Formats: sequence, C-alpha cells, structure tokens
Amino acid sequence: MIKVKNLTKTYVRNKALDDISFSLDEGDILGFLGPNGAGKSTTMNIITGYLSSDSGTVEIDGIDILEDPAGVKKKIGYLPEIPPLYNDMTVQGYLEFMFKLKKVKLPMKEHISKICDMVSISDVKSRIIKHLSKGYHQRVGLAQALLGDPPVLILDEPTVGLDPRQIIEIRKLIRNLGKKHTIILSSHLLSEVQAVCDKIIIINNGKIVTSGRTEELTATGKATNRIELVIEGRKQNVYSILNSIDGVTKVIEHEEREKGCFEYVIESSRDVRRPVFRAFAKTDYNILSMKPVSVSLEDTYLDIISGKTEGVNDNVRNI
Ligand code: ADP
Ligand code: MG
Repeated sequence: MIKVKNLTKTYVRNKALDDISFSLDEGDILGFLGPNGAGKSTTMNIITGYLSSDSGTVEIDGIDILEDPAGVKKKIGYLPEIPPLYNDMTVQGYLEFMFKLKKVKLPMKEHISKICDMVSISDVKSRIIKHLSKGYHQRVGLAQALLGDPPVLILDEPTVGLDPRQIIEIRKLIRNLGKKHTIILSSHLLSEVQAVCDKIIIINNGKIVTSGRTEELTATGKATNRIELVIEGRKQNVYSILNSIDGVTKVIEHEEREKGCFEYVIESSRDVRRPVFRAFAKTDYNILSMKPVSVSLEDTYLDIISGKTEGVNDNVRNI
C-alpha cells in the first residue's frame, strides 16, 4: 500500500533524512517512533506530497507521488503536527470548506455528519473552532483528514498536548480507524506506539534504526538475556565458572546476600539458564536463586536514542 524508497532530504546543511526505505501493507497501523528532530515530520511531509525529497521515491497504492501528486493526495488523509484549522469558522463551516477544497464527490451533509459521529464532535458542529479545547481541535483535524474516505491516514504526533483522558480517547479512535485504513502515526513515546500500532519503525538522526512488528520488537527486547543469580561459593571461582560458559558476555558481581552467597548479574547472547545450571551442578557450589530479568523495549529505545545503537538502513523493509 505504501512504498518508500531511499528518501533523502537535506535542509541547508542539515541532513534530516538519510536513505529512508520501508513498505507497508494495507490495513497496517505503523508507528513512526523517534525523539524530537529524528525526521518523523519530514518523512510524513514528503509522503503526503507537502515537501519534496532530494532523492528517493514514494508510491501510494501503486501511484508514484511525482507522477500523479493529485492522485496520491486523494488517497491520503493528513493530520499535520499543527492541524490546519481556520479558527474563526464553525466546525461545520470548516469541514464544508475543506470538503469543497478537496473536491470530494460524496453527498456533503451526510458524509460530514458521518465523520463527525465517528470522531465524536457532532455536539460541537456549530461552535467556533477557536473556542474549543485542544482535544476537540485534534478531533476536528482528524475529521478533516477523514474527508473523502481516504484509504491512508498519516497522523503526525496526534496526541501531543492532550490531557491523559483525551489521549486515551484519541488512541482508541485511531485503533478503530485502523480497521478500515492504513495508518502511519508518529510519536516520540514508546508507550504510545506500543499501545496503538501493529508495527514500529524507530528512527533517529534521519535513519531507520530498527523496525518490526510490535510484539516481535517487544519480544526481542526481552530476549536480550540478563539473569540475576545468587550462588553459594568462593566468589572468584564462581566468577570464572560463569565467565567460561559459552554465550555469556558479561558477569557483574554484587553484594553478599547471605554468608558466603553472592549475587551476580550475567548478560548473554542466548538463553544460558540450562548451561549455568549444569556447570554448577558439577561443582560444590550451589545456585540459590536464578531469575531472568527482562530488558524492556524501553531500554532498547533509550539505548537507541542515547547513541549506543547505530542506524542500519540496509534494504527496503517490508515489515
Ligand atoms: P521530528 O518530526 O522527528 O521531530 P523533523 O522531521 O521535524 O523531526 O526534523 C528533522 C531535522 O530536520 C531536525 O534536525 C530539524 O531541526 C530539521 N528541520 C526540520 N524542518 C526544517 C526546516 N524547515 N528547515 C531547516 N531544518 C529543518
Ligand atoms: Mg515532528
């Protein structure tokens, strides 16, 4: 449904996007996750045709954005970071105005009424936009994006500035919209993309750092093996036994827990619980406790944004 290949964009001297590629199937909700300045808005502005790239291509439903920009725009509903609202208009007046601007070929009143119901703004249709709360502004922006029933929705940080209750409502709404639309939403919050999206692309410094299905990425995070152990026996010997186990990459010693029993944390490239057990079963040392510690996707994300993990950008990703 969406094919993005090798997008590059430089603002004056600042390389905002460096060879971004990914593709997305119909009906997916993709979370574009990255810290401020990562390149999320730039990518979204290029996909929606509001900004041109220096190089690379964007295809929506088989149409190349440079060959048929108007055709592509018809397929996309876009909620930019700051919704383009006309503050002195009423909600109804604004939606009618946008309906005509987009040259939507559906019965206007019914269509607008259906969309207002969908995003729960029917009760404020006759209100002036500037008198509405931020949560309502965001919904009116969403209503505008939904005009014309586009198959693709691009939502740039749709929950920024909302209060917790409004955030929950907008997330629920997006999940519901995901049943009928292919959606890309951006966020700098991991918890948000985890709550809403089926797939995640993490972007930093204009590069894709990692991508995958939400549950896979969450599982990968957990699979970074870390185990807490309490072992009875001479510290130095225990330390060297742990270090000699195949797959163990790091052994950290902690304080004495009980007399003669020390706590250790080991990190490994694979699940080493069984080899650890067998190694100590051969000795006089006793394992008193063994506890796998989960490394959450949150930690992975923090590593990524603090520069410990490099960007990859190898191929076009079909995630
Ligand atoms: P995000 O949406 O992830 O916060 P952006 O796409 O807005 O990131 O920005 C990516 C990079 O490009 C940042 O370093 C930002 O400062 C820069 N940038 C964005 N828009 C402009 C612009 N109009 N002119 C110059 N630099 C820009
Ligand atoms: Mg942005």
